[in-house]
Amino acid sequence: MALNRFMHPRNHYRNNKPDFSQLALKYPEFADHSTQDLNGKICLDFKKANSVRILTQTLLKEDFNLNVELPDDRLTPTLSSRLNYIHWIEDIFGDSYKELRGIDIGTGASCIYPILGCKINNWSFLATDVNEKNLEYADKNVKGNNMQTKIQVVKVEEGTCIPQFVLSSDQTYDFVMCNPPFFADHMEAQAITSTRKVNRPDPPSMSTAEDCESIVPGGEAQFIKQMIQESFQVKEKIRVFTSMVGKKINVSVIKEELKRRQISNFSTTEFCQGKTMRWGIAWTFDTTIKFPKSYFEKKKKGNSKLIYEIPMDNGIVIYDIQNMTAYIISQLQELKVEYKEGKRTNINSCVTMTARVNSWSNQRRKRRLEKQGLNKDIEEKKNKTPEKSSSVNSVIVHEINGTLSNNKAIEDTIIDDDKKIKIVKETVMETKNINSANISSDEIPVELKTNKTPSTSTESVVKTKSGCLDDTKKNHLVKCRIILKKTDDRIMLEIVDLDGDKRELCNQILQYFKNKLKSQA
Ligand code: SAH
Repeated sequence: MALNRFMHPRNHYRNNKPDFSQLALKYPEFADHSTQDLNGKICLDFKKANSVRILTQTLLKEDFNLNVELPDDRLTPTLSSRLNYIHWIEDIFGDSYKELRGIDIGTGASCIYPILGCKINNWSFLATDVNEKNLEYADKNVKGNNMQTKIQVVKVEEGTCIPQFVLSSDQTYDFVMCNPPFFADHMEAQAITSTRKVNRPDPPSMSTAEDCESIVPGGEAQFIKQMIQESFQVKEKIRVFTSMVGKKINVSVIKEELKRRQISNFSTTEFCQGKTMRWGIAWTFDTTIKFPKSYFEKKKKGNSKLIYEIPMDNGIVIYDIQNMTAYIISQLQELKVEYKEGKRTNINSCVTMTARVNSWSNQRRKRRLEKQGLNKDIEEKKNKTPEKSSSVNSVIVHEINGTLSNNKAIEDTIIDDDKKIKIVKETVMETKNINSANISSDEIPVELKTNKTPSTSTESVVKTKSGCLDDTKKNHLVKCRIILKKTDDRIMLEIVDLDGDKRELCNQILQYFKNKLKSQA
């Protein structure tokens, strides 16, 4: 499914697709609602409301050992989206996410958030609803799971969102959560006024939501705006206010409302599952709350940020930050680039690398040359004095605005055999773009791992776009930061371009590590 890769990393269904065959063997009611195709595969018709309801009940039993009864004329919650919301609240509270106390506004017949929150995190809840039948079932489901000491189901009157008695009670709450009724009226609920095209296929699964569950005057935007207004009165009693948002357009409408009311500490997130996306919005008056970055945004940006998830089965390094950092450093030594290690903990580390030549490209060619015994030749070349040589082999080149014109003399630094720094003028062989000028480290007659820096008077300096002299671009081809981060047991390798315009070179460096640390599967 398209969005599953953006599902919250702790979501049970991210990596555990329900096994319908197993479920059909174990649960007779599930078997009754499923069919077998010609290949023997067990299938479920998601267009049938009853099938979806049975699936949710079966998964709640199988994966969470929860007994939930759902009426056939009420909303059936999809578990992956409800779990995404719960995990986001955990993230908001960080390490102290266990044993929180929350309010679930509009709990529905399933009482899904309180029951899951209590089961997974031992959270306590005040669960509200306006609808008699929903309240009756919610109560039944709480008792059916022996959670009556942790979850209190309360009837509230229409017209308010946050229960009024919270104001007068001594009880405080960590958070409010809510999956508000989405639509403003029947026309909208049936998509007659929405932008849904007539030729667009039916939604993938059938909704059994009653009017009271899906329709509220002004739709969800109005409902959440009212929550914002009411949150001012109870800000001493509740730390974090959150709501799910069903339509993307409403995310910006609600953000505008928060700004208009001068609530500056707010955050939004995406709940991704299957083919549907929902959003979460949270705000607080508590200055100690720091909202987490959206996982979806992080993953999306990750593409442009040059990130690689190191496979656990890379077959080279023990999968922890300490060993992985040591390995990265050993590789930098092999590449003969300068490096400086920053802070290293068990969850992240950082090494800054400065390269004067491209020693990471053409690795395959280098290995081939080595095999063919041409190393001897290269050694001989190395022993030649750089001044005498007029070939590119003895020159360390710089990128100037990403390109070099043909046969243009450039001034640069090299280090001769005595490791003294000299400035030479050289003619560069025809090279259009230095990013792709693959000068192998074997071909460079110098030892580059040195802390010596050339004196400023003779340095070649690159100007920034604004025309100011830019120190960071002196005498190097590329400078980047190699960051290792551990998130949810996975180690991510990130390359940050410190020059700001060497993305292609950074990409090559990332590719170098990808080749070294690839999956053995
Ligand atoms: N939380 C459930 C149900 C969401 S449907 C789930 O995620 O599956 C929205 C629910 O809000 C319905 O049960 C509806 O009866 C209830 N509701 C509508 N207006 C309300 C209000 N003002 N206060 C509390 N609940 C309300």
